[in-house]
Amino acid sequence: MIRHENISLKTYHTFGLEVKARVLVEYESEAELKSLLEEFRGEKILPIGQGSNLLFTHDFDGVVLVSRMHRARALQETKEDVLIEAEGGLVLDELIGQLTDMHLCGLENLSGIPGTVGASAIQNVGAYGVEAKDVISSVRAIAIATGEERIFTPEECRFGYRDSIFKNELRGQYIVTGVTYRLTKDGPYHLDYGNLSEAIEGEPSPETIREAVLRIRAAKLPDVRELGSAGSFFKNPVISSEHFTRLHKQYPQMPYYPQEDGFKIPAAWIIDTLGWKGKREGGAQVYEKQPLVIVNRDNASADDIVRLAAAITASVREQFGIEIHPEVNYI
Ligand SMILES: Cc1cc2nc3c(=O)[nH]c(=O)nc-3n(C[C@H](O)[C@H](O)[C@H](O)COP(=O)(O)OP(=O)(O)OC[C@H]3O[C@@H](n4cnc5c(N)ncnc54)[C@H](O)[C@@H]3O)c2cc1C
Repeated sequence: MIRHENISLKTYHTFGLEVKARVLVEYESEAELKSLLEEFRGEKILPIGQGSNLLFTHDFDGVVLVSRMHRARALQETKEDVLIEAEGGLVLDELIGQLTDMHLCGLENLSGIPGTVGASAIQNVGAYGVEAKDVISSVRAIAIATGEERIFTPEECRFGYRDSIFKNELRGQYIVTGVTYRLTKDGPYHLDYGNLSEAIEGEPSPETIREAVLRIRAAKLPDVRELGSAGSFFKNPVISSEHFTRLHKQYPQMPYYPQEDGFKIPAAWIIDTLGWKGKREGGAQVYEKQPLVIVNRDNASADDIVRLAAAITASVREQFGIEIHPEVNYI
């Protein structure tokens, strides 16, 4: 276990902002986690993974808990599939690399998404037509208030678009210590999203799909080791059929995806159409290659990012009558 007091969080989150935490502890076992929860009972607790979806708006006057539990093991195997249990602190992309090497299918489309196994369940991460929920079989968690363990079924997790019960009814109440994924031995592969199928070199397999996804991502997303960001800043909005019909007349080129409750419109397209690409607010900038991403171009402060995001939100509301919401977690 490693403890820090009054520590800079700059290297603990991918926006790279100069903010501090009163206490930060890196723990290596569930026993350590339980004793920390007892020690800090009643205090503000923030579990983080790689900090790749966080916006610290100010110094954090509480206890940040970082999991360094990073093992994975096979629990059960049948002719068709394998159940793999991974610990919450394992980097998701490391797990995916190991799984594709073993030719196990299910998570390859999520290659290259920063962050940990624990957060994959909190956020229900997704890319290229696949979401974590498609392969999650159960989620193990510890209650912050009591230290009690609980296993959640996928139904109990109430997964939605970048959403789960842990961001709603149970917000701030559990720390995810492990996720079990069901991986298959022979597909199916999901190749019909964007330009994925053309980017695959050779026959589709977990390995070739992973390579293609990593190549596409590297071309359009900033590498957080060089340029701070938290990935897509906003979620894609879903609008009503009436609203869609009106907008579609005005913008016939507008891309859209029919949903059960209306039409999903890519927020990147809206933001681009409004001319935000490359625009700056202090050190924060709308990324030139992908307008859904806000980057820390030049020593941005949290205020710069908050102001830029608020200005984009207001202009989308004014011009399109659409309310967009952040995907990034404001702390
Ligand atoms: C360049 C870039 C590209 C990205 N691309 C994608 C993408 O394609 N698809 C996508 O879905 N996301 C994407 N993201 C967002 C991000 O990678 C995911 O949201 C990821 O799941 C965050 O993982 P993390 O470990 O860094 O979590 P953090 O950012 O540290 O935390 C995210 C939230 O989860 C909570 N949390 C973290 N770990 C735990 C735990 N063990 N128990 C309880 N709560 C926890 C935190 O309190 C916080 O609320 C991208 C981010 C970046 C920077």
